[in-house]
Amino acid sequence: REEKHKVDLCILGGGPGGYVAAIKAAKSGLKVALVEKDKMGGTCLNRGCIPTKALLQSANLLSQIQKAQKFGIQVNEVKGNYSEAIKYKDGVVSTLRNGVESLLKRHNVKVFVGEGKLISDRVITTETSDAKVEISAEHIILATGSKPKMPAIQGINSREVITSDDILSLENLPKSMVVIGGGVIGMELSFILRKFGVEITVIEAMDSILPSLNKKASEVVLKSAEKQGIKVITGVLAQEIASAANGGAVVSLTKDKEELKVYGEKVLMSIGREFNIQGIDPDKNKIELTEQGAVKVDEKLRTSVTNIYAIGDVIGGYMLAHEASHEAFVAVDNILNKENSMNYNLIPSAVFSDPEVAQVGLTEKQAEDKGYTIKTSNFPYGANGKVLTTQKTEGFVELIVDKDSNRILGGTVVGVGATEIIHQIAIAVTKELLVDDICSTVFAHPTVSESVFEAALGYFGEEIHI
Ligand code: FAD
Repeated sequence: REEKHKVDLCILGGGPGGYVAAIKAAKSGLKVALVEKDKMGGTCLNRGCIPTKALLQSANLLSQIQKAQKFGIQVNEVKGNYSEAIKYKDGVVSTLRNGVESLLKRHNVKVFVGEGKLISDRVITTETSDAKVEISAEHIILATGSKPKMPAIQGINSREVITSDDILSLENLPKSMVVIGGGVIGMELSFILRKFGVEITVIEAMDSILPSLNKKASEVVLKSAEKQGIKVITGVLAQEIASAANGGAVVSLTKDKEELKVYGEKVLMSIGREFNIQGIDPDKNKIELTEQGAVKVDEKLRTSVTNIYAIGDVIGGYMLAHEASHEAFVAVDNILNKENSMNYNLIPSAVFSDPEVAQVGLTEKQAEDKGYTIKTSNFPYGANGKVLTTQKTEGFVELIVDKDSNRILGGTVVGVGATEIIHQIAIAVTKELLVDDICSTVFAHPTVSESVFEAALGYFGEEIHI
């Protein structure tokens, strides 16, 4: 059977970029088609943000119960059961996926399940289970996302090598694992698996883990990782992976010209992500790519073809879900002729390590490079009463402020609730608030958020609790 459809907007990829664009455009009155080759919700919902955070809940609960005695609670034997945790995670994922599917239906988005191909600047084709479909569209949004990157090192294809996709469906956890790449995905998974008892060795090429973060923040995370029994080796490159005689794998590394060997039952590859451009056929369709191989866009998210936009992981950047969704808003606004463009300084980053880290706005270096004279103010979490009740006192709030105007340019939060607390600073940065605005806000007591208040008071030397 052959079908032909004509729409205002056709979107390739149903992740947090694509499906958000579809709903937003449909709500604005456009006739929308969405082509997804796999499961609705993309990497984020099925293999990324949501499943990892569901497993993190299990891991954190396990670790909390193990510490119950500290809080005056008697517990007998406590044991993690990873395959049950995976089932719990699958339940969360399918509830959310059903939610997204019904939202798309409710907004009359025409969904096609099949691999989409960009044929020309106005045509996408796909083959669903029962039809060959051709969709003509005035506008197109490419939102095809990314997949795990595999380096060309010897042994990369051995059975012991797995990716974040595989971790999320493992029936039995290995006793030990080498994690190649100490970035956000590698560290988040390391903390989760460590709590389930896996012996973890992280190897990282740069000189610190989480190299994209504020140095002070990554030092706090490193210290905590080591305290929890995660081994970290930095400044090393994996040279080769060889299967070990009795199962497992040995990873050979070089550090300061010295050869090291690290053993793990499994090897998790988490060195970054690769852009999904297969369905786009950039050469034929004259879609320009960046040097890294991402789809190149301008600040309005237009590709080199005027009516084709691209959003989310496939255009590179921080490669975060909320970034993809915000880009969806910006691209749809531009399609609707409501001028909008991206300001990447306003995208917060959230790392769900233990402790959590979140950042927004300019870093000290970026602020200085832009010519600001900056003053930072830091409040240590250990001095906050609510934090103390959690027994997890590592962390801090740091504000980066323009000394001339007192305007808040950025900030970092490390510790309990950091990925929630950061939004207070995100609002301040977005709305160009002054430190004075935070000082004149009344914060409820006792709350972790009071640390933001104290950091603001501290800017004027008026902090109370240190
Ligand atoms: P994707 O979510 O990758 O979706 C793209 C979709 O396009 C996929 O469903 C794919 O099947 C489909 N597709 C590709 N090609 C075609 C084609 N030719 N035809 C039809 N369909 C196609 N980000 C956060 O912000 N917070 C987190 O906590 C977080 N945790 C993560 C944890 C892990 C383990 C991983 C791997 C990622 C995590 N991320 C997180 C990143 C986040 O998942 C991505 O940034 C986000 O999913 C990008 O959204 P997207 O819509 O651009 O692409």
